[in-house]
Formats: sequence, C-alpha cells, structure tokens
Amino acid sequence: MVVEVCSFFGVYLLYCTNPRYHGRIYIGFTVNPERRINQHNAGKRRGGAWKTSGRGPWDMVLIVHGFPSDVAALRFEWAWQHPHSSRRLTHVTRRTSRERQFDFHLRVLAHMLRAAPWCRLPLTIRWLKQEYSRDFPPGLEPPLHMPVAFGPVRAVKETKGAKPVSSEEQGVTLKCCSVCLKRFQDGDDDTLLHCFHPGCTMVAHITCLARLFLEKEPHQFLPIEGQCPGCKNLVLWGDLIRHHKGCYGDLEADPTSSQEHWANELQL
Ligand SMILES: [Zn+2]
Ligand SMILES: [Zn+2]
Repeated sequence: MVVEVCSFFGVYLLYCTNPRYHGRIYIGFTVNPERRINQHNAGKRRGGAWKTSGRGPWDMVLIVHGFPSDVAALRFEWAWQHPHSSRRLTHVTRRTSRERQFDFHLRVLAHMLRAAPWCRLPLTIRWLKQEYSRDFPPGLEPPLHMPVAFGPVRAVKETKGAKPVSSEEQGVTLKCCSVCLKRFQDGDDDTLLHCFHPGCTMVAHITCLARLFLEKEPHQFLPIEGQCPGCKNLVLWGDLIRHHKGCYGDLEADPTSSQEHWANELQL
C-alpha cells in the first residue's frame, strides 16, 4: 500500500546498484519521490542529477519526510551531504576506511535526527525498500516522537476535499479557542488545530496550543507533544499538524507503526 502525504518535503538516500559503481550513495531533496527516482534513473537529460547520470540504476532506499518547508528540508539535505562542514555535527567522526558509504551516511543521519534543530521536527523516517532496512545503532535511535515507517510513499496535492470537515468544524466561527477562549474570527480557519480523537471537539489557535504544550519547555519554540485541553489525551504535535493538513486519514498506516515504535521504545 502506498501512503499518501500532502505538503511533502523529503530528503532521500539513493543506493547505486550498478556493478561498476556499486555501493555509491546520493543524497537529495524532493517534493515528489516517485517522479524523482525515475528522473535519476533516466539520466540528466530527463532531469536527473549530474552525479547520478549514467551510473544507474539507483534504488531509493530511505526518505526522511515531515519537514515544515522546503527550506528546512534543503538545510537538512545540505548537512547530511556535508556533515563535517555543519557546526551542528562537529561530534560526528569521519568515515573510516573500513566503513561502507551506506553505513556512514546512516550513522550521520542517526546523529542528525538527535541534534538540534532537527530533533524537534515531526519527521518520519521511512524505509522505501525493505531489503535495505536495518536498526539504528544502539544509543543512536531516533527521538521517540519520530516514527520509523516502511513502504512506499506518494506526494499528493492538497485538496480542500481531503480535509475532514465535521459539522462542528463547519461552525468554527461560532466557537471559541479552547486555550485563550477568544471567539474565532472569519479567516482564522488556517491557523486552527483540531483534536483528532473521536468525539473530541477541541479547537485552538496554533499559537495558543503551541504555548500550552511548551509550558514546561519555555526555551523551545516547536512542541513535540502535549495534553489535549479537550479530551486530555496525550497528542503528538506532528499528528495535529498532519491532521490540520488533511493528511491524517492517509497516514492511518503510520499511527500503528508510530504506536509500535512507541511500544518498542518503552519496552527497552
Ligand atoms: Zn487561542
Ligand atoms: Zn482532544
């Protein structure tokens, strides 16, 4: 099953399967992974990168997605490509002669996911090809709020129709923010977050909910999780944002893996 995600910004790892260049790695940014891998394998005349052209076929092995913007994803791409030039990654040791490029880039990724500012982003780490997947090195597992997912992903255009609209949400202008208790204004819709728990009608300004979730970490500006002021369930900020973007239903395959991820982590 292909998981569909809108507002897609991803950074991927390619693995070269051409015997002449076997084991080479390429890291890139994309808003459309399916199209991008086809471009790489079709060569530079068809939009592939110069470095990958003529050296294919390439496998798109892994993609990290959930970046809030293209700029955020491009910065991540740059740091992953140039770990020794990034002031965020001075603790990452250089590749040893025995370490394969693939292993090295996974080690860099593991460090990146645990380093500021990336450690606070609602990222998903997705293995696109099962045969390459492996555990992160012990002690270098991704933060608990980042699900590790498996299988293909598709970027889809945002459509109004994809947004789950309940009768309560339609009357949103008559309602009040669950945090600041101010009545919503026309045009507020895009700045509101809704709880996705069944039966919960909590709606709040994004800024109000972020402030609430960050009460215990006032030096941060991006929340990771918090308690819904309506139903009191613990909710992940990334899930609220995905729900806001109308993608939560499509990510239903993920919450299970996300929960499994949580369960696995908690058992350790
Ligand atoms: Zn508010
Ligand atoms: Zn709720």
